[in-house]
Parts: sequence; C-alpha cells; structure tokens
Amino acid sequence: MSLTQTSDFDKQRISELASHIKAIIELVGEDPTREGLLKTPERAAKALWFLTSGYRTEPEQIVTQALFRNEGSDMVIVKDIEFYSMCEHHILPFFGHVSVGYIPDGKIVGLSKIARVVNAFARRLQVQERFTVQVADLLKEKLNARGVIVKCSGQHMCMKMRGVEKQSSSTVTVYCNGIFKESPELRAEFLNFSQKNLEN
Ligand code: ZN
Repeated sequence: MSLTQTSDFDKQRISELASHIKAIIELVGEDPTREGLLKTPERAAKALWFLTSGYRTEPEQIVTQALFRNEGSDMVIVKDIEFYSMCEHHILPFFGHVSVGYIPDGKIVGLSKIARVVNAFARRLQVQERFTVQVADLLKEKLNARGVIVKCSGQHMCMKMRGVEKQSSSTVTVYCNGIFKESPELRAEFLNFSQKNLEN
C-alpha cells in the first residue's frame, strides 16, 4: 500500500485525524505550535491511517485472486511472517511473528499472499487471540483447506511500557481448525517445525 495514492476519502479522514491528534498534543500538556511539532499532527495521522489500513483491505480478495490447483496434500508451512499491530485496549503496538501451516485439498495459495492476509488483519485494532483465529479461519474457508494452524508470538508495548512493565515477556497464541483439531500428530509436526522460530 502506497501513501502516495491517497484518495479524497483518505485525505478527508487524515485531515480530521490530524485535528484530533493536535488536540491530544495539547491535552497531554504540549504546545502544538512549537516548531518541532508543527507538522506532527499530519504525520501522525498519516501513520495511523496506514497502521489501520486493514480496515480498507479485503483479505478474502487477496486469497481468491491467487489460488492455484494442486493435487498434493502435504502440509504447507510459511514460517516467521513479521507482523505489526495495535492492541485495541491501549492503542499501543504489539508485534512479532506468525507461522501458518495448512493441509490443502486441491487448492493452494501464492505464498506471499499469506503474508498479505496477515498484514490485512494486523493493521487494525486487535487482540492477538482474535488475530490468530481470523488468519486461520479465513484461509480455511477461502482455500477450502483440510485444516489450518496458526501460531503467533507477540510482544505487547502496553505490557512493556506501562502497567506491569514486564520487559521480556512475549505472548504465544496457537489456533487450529479442520483436521488439525483431530490430529495431535499434525499439530506436533507443525509446532516442532515452527519452534525453530527466530526469537521475537
Ligand atoms: Zn494493550
């Protein structure tokens, strides 16, 4: 997604966001007319618009535009997809890695599209648990896969910067559907493989 292709709708929203951000700057005790902050409301508004671009992206379309026939039924694993999201409770970033495994049933999807689906769900106000489920269930439905499993590990700035200030904690969520639910062996195979993840 490019910020140079902003529509009139985008421009209108970004300018409204900027006026609210200017108010926030004042409310926290700063002077929005100070030189260093003059363009901050607009820059922050553009950043926020990008970070929430998932609301203006159709993950279903990303998948259905890149489906290929495939006869095999071996597990496909895409590991360590980076994601950046924002928690819906504090509007602070959480980020980390997602690994996706699926067992196809006649159809596979272009590998880069899985990363784009992850982005489409990450660039919204989220909780990690729901994000994990959304990625898996969308792929299951659109691929008509026999099963999908998703493991997500994330670091939450709302835990690190405020509140309990647990600096090194990371949160891991795993969700599966279809054949993975009935097969501990398949789950173990995926988890074993994705264990060799990069540390967050
Ligand atoms: Zn939070």
